[in-house]
Amino acid sequence: MDMDYKKYIADVPDFPEPGVMFRDISPLMCDGQAYAAATDEIAAYAKSKGTEMIVGPEARGFIVGCPVAYKLGVGFAPARKKGKLPRETVSVTYDLEYGQASLYMQTDAVRPGQKVLVVDDLMATGGTLAATIKLVEELGGIVVGTAFLIELTELGGRDKINEYDMFTLMKY
Ligand code: 5GP
Repeated sequence: MDMDYKKYIADVPDFPEPGVMFRDISPLMCDGQAYAAATDEIAAYAKSKGTEMIVGPEARGFIVGCPVAYKLGVGFAPARKKGKLPRETVSVTYDLEYGQASLYMQTDAVRPGQKVLVVDDLMATGGTLAATIKLVEELGGIVVGTAFLIELTELGGRDKINEYDMFTLMKY
């Protein structure tokens, strides 16, 4: 089914700060058909890449990644913010526009040699994606592809990770 996904994205000016146009995916998630269609498309891509495990960053990466994992019958592992994971972790610190952020994964979340798809709702600068990829690779996983609902093309995120295949449902 060809779906006009942009119909389900709410454009919110000046959020979270003045001058930023926030792309809110909530209407897509609230619509069962649109959510299922997006999940099915990402799952088909994931399958074509031989995905054995899905990894998504907190928090909207869970919303996009978990149903894909269920559909494929593979596992899902979260990349989380500081202080959330109870057991041994690996971490990566990366630059934001202002300041820095860190992401963590548990050391047994991905097996060495496992084929991993990295999933999130949206790629802007690519910083979150690059950090998540780094964690997966530190654990020995092989990143076979990346998938998003939305790619913001003007921020050049794709250049940050140009050696990885990327699948997106919408571009702005
Ligand atoms: P990046 O690290 O690529 O600069 O930013 C992407 C991350 O920030 C993603 O995890 C995403 O959830 C969040 N993000 C940044 N801007 C937006 C936006 O306009 N809409 C949504 N839904 N998420 C955003």
